[in-house]
Amino acid sequence: MGAGMLKFVTLEQEHPDKRAPALRRRDWGEVYEDFQPEAAADQAARCSQCGVPFCQIHCPVSNNIPDWLMLTAEGRLEEAYEISSATNNMPEICGRICPQDRLCEGNCVIEKGFESVTIGAVERYITDTAFRNGWVKPPKPRAERPQSVGIVGAGPGGLTVAEELRRMGYQAHVYDRYDRVGGLLIYGIPNFKLEKTIVQRRADLLIEGGVHMHLNVEVGRDCSLAELRAQHEAVVIATGAYKARDVSLPGIGLGNIFQAMDYLTASNRKGLGDAVPAFDDGTLDASGKNVVVVGGGDTAMDCVRTAVRQGARSVRCLYRRDRVNMPGSMQEVRHAEEEGVEFVWLSAPEAVLGDATVEGVRAVRIHLGVADASGRQTPQPIPGSSYSIDADLLIKALGFDPEDLPTFFGEPTLKTTRWGTLLIDWRTMMTNLDGVFAIGDIVRGASLVVWAIKDGRDAARSIHRYIQANADERDGVREAAA
Ligand code: FAD
Ligand code: SF4
Ligand code: SF4
Repeated sequence: MGAGMLKFVTLEQEHPDKRAPALRRRDWGEVYEDFQPEAAADQAARCSQCGVPFCQIHCPVSNNIPDWLMLTAEGRLEEAYEISSATNNMPEICGRICPQDRLCEGNCVIEKGFESVTIGAVERYITDTAFRNGWVKPPKPRAERPQSVGIVGAGPGGLTVAEELRRMGYQAHVYDRYDRVGGLLIYGIPNFKLEKTIVQRRADLLIEGGVHMHLNVEVGRDCSLAELRAQHEAVVIATGAYKARDVSLPGIGLGNIFQAMDYLTASNRKGLGDAVPAFDDGTLDASGKNVVVVGGGDTAMDCVRTAVRQGARSVRCLYRRDRVNMPGSMQEVRHAEEEGVEFVWLSAPEAVLGDATVEGVRAVRIHLGVADASGRQTPQPIPGSSYSIDADLLIKALGFDPEDLPTFFGEPTLKTTRWGTLLIDWRTMMTNLDGVFAIGDIVRGASLVVWAIKDGRDAARSIHRYIQANADERDGVREAAA
């Protein structure tokens, strides 16, 4: 073990400086400042270098956390970066937005009795330092290979598989219906969690490394999956899950009621400097409004905190379960509360009130009953407990399902699960169509960035094996014929 580790006994957990809520409410900057080098080294040195590191076991990409913590503690940051980037294509992004309390940090053994090592903040610090020092290089293959792979979707899953394939020398072509690279990293997740420049610099590196980006191309409309299959040796579907879940309530058809992604995309586009008519005319701008967001996941958290920054008069989050049972990250809830969001726990909407546009929501209080088959307590309305709250803007953040891709792609034989996600063989990440692979939210349902990255890495290895096996077979046939 490196000298000077195990400092958790004498040194308390400290995160990088957190910007004051009053400041955060007024701008779109990230919540945390950068770690100062000394503080990062000290915090990394709190690690006890476990023989069986539970942090690593619970990190989806199996980051070699103890090693890069020790190197950071010793000030050997370039080596720390080498190790950290060997297992993760976007460590600075995961360090910012992984729900660490449920993954690595939540499973750090010193969490019991002491506070965990601040793994995410150190991971972010290592890669931000690497970028500043020019250690992060575009993917550079040792030799070019003639075969190409078509990747549908430029989110974290698609970008990861493109980078990994490029490193192996394949020609990687990414197709996306959007006008920018990044998927939900750019149009879903707001700036205060992940600055757009952080995503942009990743995209720039890939382009510099020879990844071809074909933007404003919607597969299924502008070209077909069959065309991509004919053009490339393999195809990867990394299209995410965008079909918003809805709720059926009296009054739900009134004006000023929107889906979370419409609201967040408008706000993100505005931040990027685009003209957004539905925002510019005030429709999707929460400024001066009483905003109610329904839902309890990460998307709902992003909506309420966006509304605060747009200058809403009041922001309430209505969720039918309680704080302990909400799917969103606890850290996000704390940030939102500090910024002035009111959480109305154990409440569900019953009806939307108003004439032409929403003026209020009638909600009912909920009692959590016995656990269902999934182990979660079932929400039950308490009779006679209805009450009304004011709302001029209602945002539905109730989760996402996958689009019906077999229909959209005109590939009726493409197999899906009963949840509509693409069915793959998890050993190869291949769908039932030969040479067509799938990764990320389109196979997992709405999930996490780090899982999309893991899938991208696994798929790249599998695609390499697939292409090589086909090449060997072709060579064998040629030799036999000669
Ligand atoms: P996506 O990021 O969705 O990318 C899919 C891409 O495919 C998009 O660019 C889309 O335009 C493109 N596409 C779709 N269909 C087509 C087509 N037919 N032709 C061409 N292109 C197409 N995860 C976290 O880990 N931490 C968080 O804090 C977090 N916050 C979130 C906040 C919000 C508001 C949302 C919605 C999600 C959040 N997530 C978070 C989840 C995370 O963003 C996703 O799990 C992740 O982005 C999935 O990656 P992906 O590559 O599978 O898909
Ligand atoms: Fe933790 Fe996510 Fe980093 Fe893994 S990738 S170490 S889970 S922050
Ligand atoms: Fe260090 Fe915690 Fe991981 Fe153990 S579980 S190696 S103490 S970070």
